[in-house]
Formats: sequence, structure tokens, C-alpha cells
Amino acid sequence: MAELRRDIVTGNWVVVGHRTIKSDSVGLCPFCPGNEHLTPKTIREYKDNEGAWLVRCFPASSPIFVIEEELSKRGEGIYDKMNSVGAHELIVESRSHTKILSDFSENEYMLLLDMYQERIHDLKNDKRFKYIQVFKNHGELAGSYIFHPHSHVIATPVMPDKIQLELIHSKNHYLQKERCLFCDIINQEKRLDKRVVSVNASFISICPFASRFPFETWILPRFHDSNFENLKDFRAKQELISILSDVIKRVERLTNAYTIVIHSSPNVHEIDSLNEHRLPVSEHFHWHIEILPRDFKTSKYKREDEFYVTQITPEEAARTLKEEKV
Ligand SMILES: [Zn+2]
Ligand SMILES: [Zn+2]
Ligand SMILES: [Zn+2]
Repeated sequence: MAELRRDIVTGNWVVVGHRTIKSDSVGLCPFCPGNEHLTPKTIREYKDNEGAWLVRCFPASSPIFVIEEELSKRGEGIYDKMNSVGAHELIVESRSHTKILSDFSENEYMLLLDMYQERIHDLKNDKRFKYIQVFKNHGELAGSYIFHPHSHVIATPVMPDKIQLELIHSKNHYLQKERCLFCDIINQEKRLDKRVVSVNASFISICPFASRFPFETWILPRFHDSNFENLKDFRAKQELISILSDVIKRVERLTNAYTIVIHSSPNVHEIDSLNEHRLPVSEHFHWHIEILPRDFKTSKYKREDEFYVTQITPEEAARTLKEEKV
């Protein structure tokens, strides 16, 4: 069984000992309609009028985190470890084995976003989980081993490193300036208009100032909100779909593989005893979606051990993405 160990030098949590179970149904796609028996039992599905599922969610067969276990935190001398209690679910995005996000209709996107939101809400009821990660990989290089388009939902008892860093920086910014860091970024990027890819009434997409990957793009709501899963307004959701589908079409034309990750507020009590500033996360954190291309047809990014190195500036990336005909 996998366990979580904390690197005592950096404070990062690492999952060790996770092994993937090989499927014995070679040649059959376990995610295609008719093969539901090859996956664990459905947690939630949305159906059409004839009763056929359109989007389907079930537990991963080789989960990194497992829901049933008691959370036990232990020490080993000076080190900390705990069992990897949590949840790992997969969402099959449509019945089609080959339909990628570029080909999704507004309604298909709507069902997928609804499923993301519903699963986050549901998993947040379990207070052992500190964070609910939602992400999807597109293309082999981004780590997708089953071709049929699907997303992951992972609930963890510890905060992912990247989110932890974002929370620290957004909190410090707020304490110094009494303004949301992300609202400040949006205002400045909108004003400068050098790294903006697109904008509509409620959302903006930008190539971030210090992009780690060529064509890295973030989509942020232009209104302050810390929780993606609380986005209810139908019109605002349509605007999110419109900007998301447009950006994805452009990214899919320029790259072979990408990861999409939703950064939303963690599952923590608004003000806990460790929060000495009594500053609610909802004040300083601002949800967003990050699209991270992992490969580029002509110039790959490099990871020089500790640094990300890209050959294209975010200003050039934003211009190229904007000019791409979709
Ligand atoms: Zn399939
Ligand atoms: Zn904000
Ligand atoms: Zn982020």
C-alpha cells in the first residue's frame, strides 16, 4: 500500500510505493460504452433521455489515494508519514473514444463542468480531505495512458505543493496591500494587453508573466471568487465554456500534449486556529484554470533539474495563440 512521506528538508509530501494494476482486458477500452463491467462501480453519471450515460464517474482501478482507510499519522524517527487516505476518481468525458475537447459542444462542456463541481462538493464533505484536485491530461506526453478522454479527481489529506505556494503568496500579498493578488494580476494584464489571449464579460485568458511551458495559459474569472465549484450562474458558465473551448482549440493546434488543472479553494475551515491573521481563504484566493502544454511541435520545453526553461516568451505565445485561426 502506498504511503505519504514528508520531505523534512522541503516540507513537500510525496506518495511512495504506488503500483499500477495492469488491466487484463488487452485491446478493449474499459471506458467505452458496453465495457462498464471492466471498471469499478459507477459513483455518478448523467444520462440522456434514453437512459444512456453521457458523462460517467467511478473510482480509479489503481488509485493513488484510497477512501476507506482511517487516516493515521505516524513518525519514523525525525520523519513524518501517513497512509494515503483520500479518493481517486475518474470521469469519462463522453461516450466517444476519440472526441477531444476541441470537438465538444457547449452542452458537453456544461455536463463535464457540472460533474467536476458536483464531485468537488461531494468530496469536500469529508473533512479529512484538505484539497480536491481536478485535472486532465491530453496526449501521451502529458501522461495519459488510456486514450479515451477522461479527467481525474483526487482528494488528498495534505495540500499539494503548488497550491500551498499559491496560498502563501496570495495571503502575503493581501496582508501587505489589502487586495487580491489575482485581481491585481488581471487588472494589470488587461491594462498592458501584452499577454492577454482573450477576454469576455466574466473571464480573461492570459499567458502568465513567468510561463513555465510554451503556450501556458491561465483562465481566470474577472470577478473575485475563491471557489470554482460555486460558479452557478448559467450565463457565467456559458462564458467560461466559450473562453475555455476557444483557448483549448488554439492550444490543441500548437501543441501535442497538455494538462488542464483547476485551482480552487482548499477544503479548510475559513478561519482555523493556525491562521494567526484571521484572514479567510475566500478573501485572498482566486480560483483559476491552468492549461499547461507539455510538448511543442517545434521547440520542446526543458526542465533543467530545478528550473523550467522555455524558448518562447509569454508575449510571443499570447500573440501566436491569438493569431491562430480556429
Ligand atoms: Zn474508449
Ligand atoms: Zn481576486
Ligand atoms: Zn494556480
